[in-house]
Parts: sequence; C-alpha cells; structure tokens
Amino acid sequence: SMASPALLMRVVASAYSAAEKAATIVRSVMATGDLGIVEKTGANDLQTKADRLVQMSICASLARKFPKVTIIGEEELSTDEVTEELIEDGHCEEILQKTCPAQYTGIKEEELVIWVDPLDGTKEYTEGLLDHVTVLIGIAYGGKAIAGVINQPYYNYEAGAGAVLGRTIWGVLGIGAFGFQLTEAPAGKHIIVTTRSHSSTLVNDCISALNPDSVIRVGGAGNKIIQLIEGKASAYVFASPGCKKWDTCAPEAILHAVGGKITDIHGNSFQYNKEVKHMNSAGVLAALRNYDYYASHIPNNVKQSLVP
Ligand code: AMP
Ligand code: MG
Ligand code: MG
Repeated sequence: SMASPALLMRVVASAYSAAEKAATIVRSVMATGDLGIVEKTGANDLQTKADRLVQMSICASLARKFPKVTIIGEEELSTDEVTEELIEDGHCEEILQKTCPAQYTGIKEEELVIWVDPLDGTKEYTEGLLDHVTVLIGIAYGGKAIAGVINQPYYNYEAGAGAVLGRTIWGVLGIGAFGFQLTEAPAGKHIIVTTRSHSSTLVNDCISALNPDSVIRVGGAGNKIIQLIEGKASAYVFASPGCKKWDTCAPEAILHAVGGKITDIHGNSFQYNKEVKHMNSAGVLAALRNYDYYASHIPNNVKQSLVP
C-alpha cells in the first residue's frame, strides 16, 4: 500500500484549498458592497471585513487539521467563535501526488510555522484595484520559507465574462512552482516594481539609483512577486519598513522555488521562525534574475537609513 503523504505536502495541499475558499470570501464581501473598513495604524493601514473573515477561515481550517502547527496571522482578532461555514476541510489532490523532497519528509507539526496574510493589498481592494489583491499562506521550517500559496481572487477580472476568475499559485523548494507561466523579464531592461500606496523620498531615491527604464507602482507584496515571475518586472524594490513576515513568506518560497532571490535592502535573508520580529525593517529587494545588479546598486545612504 502507498505510504501516507508527508506532512509538508498535506499542509500545502490543505493551504491550497483554504486559499481558494478565502478567495470566495474576498469576492463575496466585495459583492455585498459593505467592506467594514477599520483603520489600524492610519489611513494607509486598513482592515476590512474580508481581512477578518479570511483570517478566521484560513487559521481555523488549518488549525483543525494540524493542531500543533504554529499559525501566525496578520490581523488581531477578538476570539470570536468561528462559524462552521468558514471552515474548509478540502485539499488539492494534485499536490498530494507530488513527491516530498527528501530533506522535508521527516518534518513534524511542531516544527512548522505558517504565516498568513489573509488579504494583501487591502488599500487597493478598498479602491477597486482588484487584481492587486492576493491571499498569502507561507510555510516555514527551520526559520526558512519552504513552501507557499498565493491566491489572486480577481485574476482575469478585466478579461470579460468568458474568462475564469481567480487563480492559485503554489510552490515548494525542491519541487518548483505551479499555477502560472514562468516568464523572463525583457533582457537588458531595468523594470522596477514598487509600492503604490506607501512611497517615501527614500523609496523613490533608491529606485532612481538603479537606473530604471520604467517603474511599475502596484499594491501588494504577493502581486509584486507575481510581476517578477511572469516577466512584467525585473526587480521588486522597497527601501522602507512596512512589509511584514506574512507579506514575504509565501512570495519568498515561490520565488526561491523558481530560482529567484529575495532579501532586505542590505542583502540579509529573512527569518520566519515563530519568535522573529514581524516587521521587515530594512525593506525588500527581490528579482528572478540579476539580483546582484540591483543589490550592488543600492546607495549607501539608503542602507544607512534602514536598520534591520
Ligand atoms: P505595498 O507594496 O505598499 O502594497 O506594501 C506591501 C505590503 O506591506 C502590504 O501588506 C502593505 O500593507 C504593507 N506595508 C508596506 N508599507 C506599509 C506601511 N507604511 N504601513 C503599513 N503597511 C505597509
Ligand atoms: Mg500584506
Ligand atoms: Mg493583509
């Protein structure tokens, strides 16, 4: 008889279905027209009913199946009872069919940390820039991002009625990443993707120093990693604090699974153990190819302004 699939593969397969359920919640809250917006630290740091419901859904669904895994979600929620209709108990069969990389077959529940951004790009969600929005579930082991799921609930929403709305991208280090077409950015061009709603002088000065041919300003960390793996941009540059571990964990796993690199602005890798500070204080620098060009052109004054 077949051995039962490794824990990591069961977690990724369940995270995939939890992210698809999350996407239905994101779309249905928008469809009601009542977003229930709450300001967290200010007008550029928002939470909606979708952020709240999705976090409850993902965290409760994964905790029920994997009770000893540490799950860290972005939102601070009152300990409301989670209604049964928010629970997803399915999994993606295709993921369970993949072979777990040998170095991960012995992982125990207690050793995994799941970082959940229930809705990345909330500001853009409230402004109707719907394809900027993603749901991020990152899986870490030994402090490293090793697997991730990115759901884009409104992928294709401008393509018209016949198009399938939404998609789920997933990846595991040593297996690869799926659910999209890996595409190289135009050769010899520096196309920088960065924040749209959290700019600063430092953010813009850093970009200028990289000799960009063009700058794409869009919301969401998940969305910006999608721009890299689909060849729309050559580097993601954000010389500012503001991004947190739940923003980078799933994107990092997927980018690294296809040979890219993401670090802070100094070139330090991110840590994802459960005790780590949440803020990525020294910004974000990521590329699918030519990471070294961007890392070597970050100005010293920018580095000095961003303490890890
Ligand atoms: P952005 O590229 O501006 O969409 O930011 C990517 C992620 O980091 C999103 O989850 C933002 O909410 C978060 N973020 C970036 N800068 C800030 C900030 N100054 N305050 C709060 N959240 C931020
Ligand atoms: Mg986010
Ligand atoms: Mg969020």
